[in-house]
Amino acid sequence: MKHLSIRRQMTLWFAISLLVVMSVMYLAMHVVLKRTMMNNAESIVQAYGAQASSYIEAENGTIKFDESMPDSEAEVYFQIFNSDDQSVYSYGVPDEISSLTPDFNQPRVLSISGINWMIYDQEIEEDSSQIGWVRSVKSLNYIDETLSNLFIVFLCLCPAFLIFALLIGYFLVRRTLLPIDKITAAASKIGRGDLSQRLNMKNTGDEVGRLSATFDEMIERLETAFLAEKQFTSDASHELRTPVAVITAYAENAISEGSTPEENKHAMEVILRESKKMSATISSLLMLTRGDQRKYQPNLELIDLAQLIEDVADEVRMSAEQKDVSISVSTCGSILLMLDQTLMTNLLLNLLGNAVKYSKIGGHVEIILFSERRNVVLKIKDDGIGISKEDLPKVFNRFFRSEHSGDTEGTGLGLAIVKWIVDVHRGEIKIESELSIGTTVTVYFPIDQI
Ligand code: ADP
Repeated sequence: MKHLSIRRQMTLWFAISLLVVMSVMYLAMHVVLKRTMMNNAESIVQAYGAQASSYIEAENGTIKFDESMPDSEAEVYFQIFNSDDQSVYSYGVPDEISSLTPDFNQPRVLSISGINWMIYDQEIEEDSSQIGWVRSVKSLNYIDETLSNLFIVFLCLCPAFLIFALLIGYFLVRRTLLPIDKITAAASKIGRGDLSQRLNMKNTGDEVGRLSATFDEMIERLETAFLAEKQFTSDASHELRTPVAVITAYAENAISEGSTPEENKHAMEVILRESKKMSATISSLLMLTRGDQRKYQPNLELIDLAQLIEDVADEVRMSAEQKDVSISVSTCGSILLMLDQTLMTNLLLNLLGNAVKYSKIGGHVEIILFSERRNVVLKIKDDGIGISKEDLPKVFNRFFRSEHSGDTEGTGLGLAIVKWIVDVHRGEIKIESELSIGTTVTVYFPIDQI
């Protein structure tokens, strides 16, 4: 059984079950048929014995049988005995049965010379005294013949049914398991790296139909994740290659003969700037990768979010002033939430940094913090360059930078990190924006997390 294919195992089980069912049915039929025929034979010999007794009369102590009694149509034989157990009349009863001692009022079955007989002895009474008795007998040969015919029919039909069942079972199982073969073939192609494989089978709603639909969905998700991973790796290497190329070029220049101290200083400044940029990109990537692997355990503590916003706003104000951008903060007192301080600072720096970075000269950034029924809501509004409708759904993608961002510095990882931080805090984030009008980022933190 261990090495048989599922198809063969199922067919075999099907055949064995059919054999068991047929055997049980045969046995049940045998028992019921035998019981019914025996009961019938009992009734016949009893009735015939009674009929024979009614044709008997007693005259001066001797009994006389009226031979005009019609013969039995059911082949019942009988013999009449007087009170001294001497035979008075016999019709067809074999000698071996005639000599048996009587056993009154209870039909019995005896096997004589290999043939079963139903024997019934009935007393004949007159004026409450026994004047003789009648023995009626019937051969049960026909019951044995019927039962052995039944057995022959069973023996002949059994293999025919079995072969039929095996064939039908085999083809049915084959048809049912065909999708499994398809799944195996597709899985083996996928194993070789072809994630475009789909089963595309009609969903019949049965187990195999559901399996193939689930399989296709799983491969779809795998392919999407695999492509995203590929895109991410290529974006990351591209993003790091540019600063490395700049650093290499400036370093080669600096060590070349004839470079002046001023040129060397400038080279060092560029190298430092590019290194910082690379370091920032690597830190962001590391943070996102840890988030992906769900390795990051947030260090949640009770924090006054209003105070944290004031602190971060003060920090950003210095760079905002260079662009003549003003920042206003509106909170209604302290708002305490369970937050990871490092992550929240990162989130605020990114959102506020973007609002200032993409503001027009002399623009205004507004931070509003308030509590709703279930959430604490943080809104960061700017009146900067805005985001186009086409770009809006992509801003959380890693390395996405809108073409409207021009040559403002950035890696395209900030909002991806913000989204991850919001998820860590089981919150939600929404961005509304209109090109050249401004952008509003809204973050919802659930209050029940406290
Ligand atoms: P980065 O700012 O480093 O480019 P982000 O992930 O923070 O990366 O933002 C992705 C893109 O979304 C930005 O390049 C920019 O085009 C757009 N964006 C984000 N915030 C704003 C904003 N407040 N105003 C306009 N555009 C924005």
